[in-house]
Amino acid sequence: QAKSAQDGRVTPMMAQYIEIKAANPDSLLFYRMGDFYELFFEDAEIASQALGIVLTKRGKHQGQDIPMCGVPVERADDYLQRLIGLGHRVAVCEQTEDPAEAKKRGAKSVVRRDVVRLVTPGTITEDRLLDPGRANLFLAVARRRVSDSEWRYGLAAVDISTGRFTLGETDAAGLPAEIARFDPREILVPDSIHDDPELAAFWRETGAAITPLPREGLDPASAERRLKEFFGVATLDAFGTFDRAEIAAAGCALFYIEKTQIGSRPVLYPPSREEAGATLAIDAATRANLELTRTLSGERAGSLLAAIDCTVTPAGARLLGERLAGPLTDPDRIRDRQDSVAALCEDGALRDRLRRILKRSPDFARALSRLGLGRGGPRDLACLRDGLLAARDLGLELAIAPNLSRELAEAARTLQALDTSVADRLAALLADELPLQKRDGGFVRAGYDAGLDELRELQQDSRRFIAALQARYANETGCRTLRVKHNHMIGYFVEVPQNVGEDLLREPWKDVFVHRQTMAGAMRFSTVELGELESKIASAADRALKIELGLFEAMAQDLVAMSSDIAAAAQAMAVVDVTAALAELAMRLDWTRPAVDRSLSFRIAGGRHPVVEAALKREGQPFIANDADLSGKDAGHILLITGPNMGGKSTYLRQNALIVVLAQMGSFVPAKEARIGVVDRLFSRVGAADDLARGRSTFMVEMVETAAILNQATARSLLILDEIGRGTATFDGLSIAWAAVEHLHEVNRCRALFATHFHELTALAERLPRVSNATLKVTEWQGEVVFLHEVVPGAADRSYGLQVARLAGLPVAVVERAKTILSELERSDRENPKRVFVDDLPLFAVAARPEPAQTAAPDPLRQALESLDPDQMTPREALEALYRLKAQL
Ligand code: ADP
Repeated sequence: QAKSAQDGRVTPMMAQYIEIKAANPDSLLFYRMGDFYELFFEDAEIASQALGIVLTKRGKHQGQDIPMCGVPVERADDYLQRLIGLGHRVAVCEQTEDPAEAKKRGAKSVVRRDVVRLVTPGTITEDRLLDPGRANLFLAVARRRVSDSEWRYGLAAVDISTGRFTLGETDAAGLPAEIARFDPREILVPDSIHDDPELAAFWRETGAAITPLPREGLDPASAERRLKEFFGVATLDAFGTFDRAEIAAAGCALFYIEKTQIGSRPVLYPPSREEAGATLAIDAATRANLELTRTLSGERAGSLLAAIDCTVTPAGARLLGERLAGPLTDPDRIRDRQDSVAALCEDGALRDRLRRILKRSPDFARALSRLGLGRGGPRDLACLRDGLLAARDLGLELAIAPNLSRELAEAARTLQALDTSVADRLAALLADELPLQKRDGGFVRAGYDAGLDELRELQQDSRRFIAALQARYANETGCRTLRVKHNHMIGYFVEVPQNVGEDLLREPWKDVFVHRQTMAGAMRFSTVELGELESKIASAADRALKIELGLFEAMAQDLVAMSSDIAAAAQAMAVVDVTAALAELAMRLDWTRPAVDRSLSFRIAGGRHPVVEAALKREGQPFIANDADLSGKDAGHILLITGPNMGGKSTYLRQNALIVVLAQMGSFVPAKEARIGVVDRLFSRVGAADDLARGRSTFMVEMVETAAILNQATARSLLILDEIGRGTATFDGLSIAWAAVEHLHEVNRCRALFATHFHELTALAERLPRVSNATLKVTEWQGEVVFLHEVVPGAADRSYGLQVARLAGLPVAVVERAKTILSELERSDRENPKRVFVDDLPLFAVAARPEPAQTAAPDPLRQALESLDPDQMTPREALEALYRLKAQL
């Protein structure tokens, strides 16, 4: 393509396009042409497909039509959103000079254009492109070698829509959990890491957009220089002590900001740091299984986050999501948050007042970021006005509140320290109705600026001037139909009928009225006075806009100058919002404050599953609360749970894990009473879905996850395991499950809930001191199985698999046949105890066990049926036969 640019057959514009496109090969190029962004060649084909817009042609290139499509600049945000959502990156190329300038250089020269911004999933700032309730992070990864086989990873997470900048470090084993905690939209990975074969699959599985970065300029020395330059500091010590890998990652993040924002510098806050181990480690699979922030199908609705979110501001919703994704491990910090929630639980009136103020507060952190990047509009100023006024009121409200917790008192101090006089100036400056774009003007309130008022008056008075002028001309010429009109060609003009016009061409009028146009039956003239008025009006509009833009920029600068104070206030408000929301939730749903300490306790009385409970409530069904006790002194307890499918095992397992997450994020929990010794890592192995996309069988996935658990769990960890060994033949499965429980008991010594279909495992409770059995209570009523969802000590006596199968609508014949097979299996089991178990025999494995099927006693019902000959029977005999058959059931 670049070569063809020189072979003379391309237009200058195409040459320019090709050159810019060559510099941005990975992005769709939005090439500005007047009121449109146009896309050409392959970009046009991709975009027209993705956006469902018409693909046309424009000119030829090397004898071929050039495919083209375009999107109007005004609606570009919508299109950008869709393209970004589909994982594309877009380079926005603008005209960087006035077309008139280009003309001056020669008739053939093209307007200068340049890419002013790269739009990528992790670097968007527009409200319409952002999800209000979710941080929009990109994450830079770097690493350094610690030993031959070991790496230290540094992570830098940046949300340029709010200015948040967080650093962290981890080892290879902790990397997936850390990345899952940040949940970035985009991950920047230096080529060397990206190409590491051991990690290749890992990047794909994060679900984020992966952007490989070339190595150049990413060495630790340039990273440190970049950081110092960006924050204007001589040393980084002021921000804390960082690992070299963290600094490298931070430098990589700043490099990417330069690369995508091109000349615009976002407001970023000095990097803050999470100590390794400060948050409860939850790997990606466990997060997904527990549906913490989104469901397995990827939606927020139905997740734990959606169930507990009572926040009233977008920033609060984001902070809640962050806290849920990264629960704490330090009991003191957890208790501090609990104190805050407890205070607002007790003082409902204060909580209501705080929430009422918060409701008025828009997402001003994001508005500030847009102003900082030069992308802000009048409505962003209004956002800051409302946000800062709310911040002030919130500060005042907290100032008179008694007995604040440490955390709330600190938020109060931050809010009270904020200088909100700028909000008053904004209130004075901004008009009631605001345009979307600053270049539309009209956003400054009348009375704010005398010069502006004068200019506006001049514009408004123009009508009056013109009416007066028209009256005077009509009077002087004696033509009552004389009109002053306006068009874009000749500006203001006087229009008279043809016959009057002829007169005006002569003395004494010809010096006053200059002929411009002759129309059918009418003539048009300009006058010196009209000309003067015209330019006065035009320049008044120009000057008025200039004044408005000047006021806008001054205000934006003032705000950006105090951005760290504003950000601190925004964060404080988010903290208040989250705290009040958790208090509101606790009161509404009758949750309790859990005791969190450094012991190895785990005692829950009357625990509930918040999401299942809410779903049942909507159907008018009660949720059965259940206790759990896994407490131990220097090692945790293992609870083996057997019971029928649909009994509530998964719900029970998950609810206990969710209670830990909630407790450690500082929330109250859905239980009557809870005591939890902090958990350092949460492991789960629940449900088994074939991971065909990765080419792994259910069994393989299960074993990989189990291996990770057995290798990593400590006495501080909590583990929930469901159905281990299910994906294989029963003997293998049982032996693996058996050995795993022994390993957990002897080596990992963690607290664990283990749901299983292998009844044989329940024998372990007699052999291992810290293992006990529990089961889900079931009764039968009129031949139907009834699940009581109550967890009781002991092992399940039978599995009710067939009853469940019938409930699920399996054909009656199949269920009946299964019954026969089952009783046969159970009989041979009793007679030949070595051939043990097989409780919940997988349905289709029956065929693979030929002996019982072949040796099964003939079905009496079937025999009876076979002996009947309907052709030989009277209706009465047939009816009697039917009754007999029924009686045999
Ligand atoms: P299992 O894992 O034993 O197959 P689940 O935990 O999936 O069973 O529960 C099956 C259904 O039973 C759930 O969808 C829910 O509707 C209901 N359920 C589970 N636990 C309870 C409970 N404690 N109280 C009321 N209903 C429950």
